[in-house]
Amino acid sequence: MNDCNCAIREKLYLKCGHSNELFVCATCMKNVEVNTLQLPSEIVQQLQLWQSDYGNWLDDQSGIIFHGGDLLIQIHHDLGTRYSQILKETYNQNVEYQMT
Ligand SMILES: [Zn+2]
Repeated sequence: MNDCNCAIREKLYLKCGHSNELFVCATCMKNVEVNTLQLPSEIVQQLQLWQSDYGNWLDDQSGIIFHGGDLLIQIHHDLGTRYSQILKETYNQNVEYQMT
């Protein structure tokens, strides 16, 4: 996997979906290793838990959204937006949530 090598990262995207990547650089769209951002481990753990919840609203076999799953999707995206705000306001990272 190629990681971002930009000297200056103007913006990061917080990614949604099943992935080993939490952040990508908005300039080169490559992975940004979370441990290079020097975030407290608590917020990193929260982000990883949040990301791992992605798709819990889908039936594995059929890929059909469970009854009530629309609400879970909405909550997931709301949290992604909220985390991006927290990263911006509290941790000085210019993060935008990238909903996919
Ligand atoms: Zn980059």
